Amino acid sequence: MIINFRKVTKTPLDFNIESNNIVFKGSLKYDGENLVLLQATITGSIDLDCYLCANEVVLPLNEDVEFLISDGAYSGLHDDYDVVESFDGHINIEELLNSEIELIKSGYHSCEDCK
Ligand SMILES: [Zn+2]
Repeated sequence: MIINFRKVTKTPLDFNIESNNIVFKGSLKYDGENLVLLQATITGSIDLDCYLCANEVVLPLNEDVEFLISDGAYSGLHDDYDVVESFDGHINIEELLNSEIELIKSGYHSCEDCK
């Protein structure tokens, strides 16, 4: 799902995608100054390897995510949110979900035996 920045207005634009047991559902809203606010939840589960014994761990997901997407380079720091830059005039929902999932996977997760 790829959304053109120009299509995003102050009226929230809903999106909902599913991939590999994960549901990414939320909305995009224009926030001024070439910024779009994404507010969404990630639910479902992901399979991981325990960082201690490498057994499979099924991690249930129920994450609220909120960040800004900048149409082009963003200089400076935003007071309230992280800012993700996009350089092609589009918002790629799958790509954003994938980077969130990578972030979750990069944490330390242990199986029941190792807890
Ligand atoms: Zn383990």
